[in-house]
Amino acid sequence: MSSDLNNKIESLYGIGKHYLPKLHKLGIFNIKDLLYHFPHRYENFGEIKEIKDLCPGEKSTIHGKIINVKNTRTPRKRMQITEALISDGKSVLKAIWFNQPFLRNTLWAGINVSLSGRVGMDYDTFSMSNPAYEIIPKDLEESEENIPHIQTGGLIPMYPETEGLTSRWLRIRIKSVLHLSDDIKEFIPDEILERQGLISISEALQQVHFPTDKENKNRARHRLAFEELFLMQLHFKKQRQQWQKNGARSIPFDQPAIKNFVDNLSFKLTGAQKKATWQILQDIEKDVPMNRLMEGDVGSGKTVVAAIGMFEIINAGFQTALMAPTEVLAEQHYNTLVTLIPSIPILLLTGSCQKISGKSKVKSQKSKRRNKEISRKEAITLIKSGKVKIVIGTHAIIQKDVEFKDLAMAIVDEQHRFGVQQRAALQKNVLKIKDKTPSIIPHLLTMTATPIPRTLALSAYGDLDISILDEMPKGRQKIITKVVAPGDRLKAYEFISSEIKKGYQAFVICPLIEESDTLEVRSVTEEYEKLSKKIFKNFRIEMLHGKMKSREKEEIMQKFKNREIDILVSTSVIEVGIDVPNATVILIEGSDRFGLAQLHQFRGRVGRSDRQSYCFLFTDSTARTTAQRLKALVGSANGFELAQKDLEIRGPGEFLGSRQSGLPDLAMASLTDVETIQLAREEAEKIVSKINKFPALKNKLEQFKSEIHFE
Ligand code: ADP
Ligand code: MG
Repeated sequence: MSSDLNNKIESLYGIGKHYLPKLHKLGIFNIKDLLYHFPHRYENFGEIKEIKDLCPGEKSTIHGKIINVKNTRTPRKRMQITEALISDGKSVLKAIWFNQPFLRNTLWAGINVSLSGRVGMDYDTFSMSNPAYEIIPKDLEESEENIPHIQTGGLIPMYPETEGLTSRWLRIRIKSVLHLSDDIKEFIPDEILERQGLISISEALQQVHFPTDKENKNRARHRLAFEELFLMQLHFKKQRQQWQKNGARSIPFDQPAIKNFVDNLSFKLTGAQKKATWQILQDIEKDVPMNRLMEGDVGSGKTVVAAIGMFEIINAGFQTALMAPTEVLAEQHYNTLVTLIPSIPILLLTGSCQKISGKSKVKSQKSKRRNKEISRKEAITLIKSGKVKIVIGTHAIIQKDVEFKDLAMAIVDEQHRFGVQQRAALQKNVLKIKDKTPSIIPHLLTMTATPIPRTLALSAYGDLDISILDEMPKGRQKIITKVVAPGDRLKAYEFISSEIKKGYQAFVICPLIEESDTLEVRSVTEEYEKLSKKIFKNFRIEMLHGKMKSREKEEIMQKFKNREIDILVSTSVIEVGIDVPNATVILIEGSDRFGLAQLHQFRGRVGRSDRQSYCFLFTDSTARTTAQRLKALVGSANGFELAQKDLEIRGPGEFLGSRQSGLPDLAMASLTDVETIQLAREEAEKIVSKINKFPALKNKLEQFKSEIHFE
């Protein structure tokens, strides 16, 4: 019985070599997959009408007999036309299909058909262009009502057709296996079905493909969307439970020490920073491991919050580590922390460099001279012995040979740069960090500068606690943002020249080319050539792209930081939280190619000093969404606001950009459907601890996890 569902898709009639690879591409391998291939929309062909009652402009369905069919060619356009006259006994309709001469093999005079399409007029005769058609089988001709419409009449499912499989073709295959949906076991517990008023899985599958009416279609889609969100939330809850089965070191809250630390900062914490700090300190006081994400716009001051947490850890005598995605960033953090926590030595460990800061009681004495280069071996020994309490670095700190003595908290900065998919892997790496105490793991704090709207965060990071820095430190300059018309390009260049002559620096960002790294490199190289040889001949220009060795990239970034470069021409690799306060202009080419959030990140590369900064946007696109997005960027400096807008304009799939699209690829549910997510969360919470009582659900969850590629 259930074996039918698991039968390979090629066991179905009519699926030959031609279609098989296409189906596989859509992720359809067996019959069940086919049932789970959902329409993305429906064509509403309305009620079946008599031809005489048709109304031009409306979508309708008619039944009738073909009187004649002929193929002709238009004289000049060389288009093939198939023309048919259809009569329902009272009046006649003219149907026209373009470039489908093969229709003559299926449609001929004398057979009965059902046609659906938009009604037009050809002189005084009703017509339809390219109508959907369906042949009415002989034995059904008499009893109109029983005609099983799958191609015409009522709500007709439309499937994404990008893979060269037509909706028409899919409808026939799906219809032929639809009865098997009765064999699919219900896995949502009865109590939840009841509480949520959900229809059964078999009914939902029938109705989602061939709905009897709009209401049933909606019920079916809701059930299937709920199912996905529920499984996702259940997965999160289980992960969270798993995480919390571990122990962690409880770090007592040392109020006087923290107060002293905060009082000694050169600025006052924002309200949002205070709140986040408080949440972190409370978390690490517990003996279950923290798993918290700190989200905050570029420049919102995440580092100092992290530093306070780190200070609390070393104050209690344990080790803490901070990991950044690039060497430049790691170095930047190292310098910041050496300033913020001067009282103890801090170790920097990256792929190419290990150094340790000297002790200093006086804050101002953080000069580079005090840094001592050491060997990797020495660094590892210091970490293992617990002699060094603070380690800053890149992935180098999670290499196999790096063992901590008593790591109480790990921090991952710019975690979105590691990719959402790698997040799980990172956590596993943290778990792998060796520690002599069994089942004790470090508290984990991840940080991201991609402000993800709360709605999306619930679905994307459902297993984490979240702190949000939605408040900027006082006194930040607003960056002047302008969309530059192509005719004003030279003016923009002149402006850049004048800024550089005053001693400032500029970024030029080249368009994102997702399809090919090689093309991207070419475009950066061309831009670089143009700017260095023609436009800015007298300035120092360098380029940066993803194909360069990380060593090379780091060097160039460092040179830019040291003001040895005036203009940095770069691909999106620059986006990471690099801090070059002396840069005051950023020019972004092909700005339509980037998401709003990403553009906002680029813009955040400037405006990091008291000096007024500028962001110039170029685009060739005339699309409405481009105009909408760029307008939003010009009008707002708030990352969360922009993220929400971006989400609305582009939808969650594209929102994070393909590089970060580790978000689960759900077939039905929307990751922004807050209401359903909330319901799903509540139900998941109720069921998670007794999931063993529901083997079908447990099974389904396992399957879901593997299909959705969470890990
Ligand atoms: P991000 O959140 O992007 O990582 P950083 O932590 O790098 O931001 O902080 C950006 C800059 O703002 C740093 O130079 C930092 O010293 C400064 N800063 C952080 N918090 C405050 C504050 N409350 N008031 C003023 N400046 C602050
Ligand atoms: Mg940062």
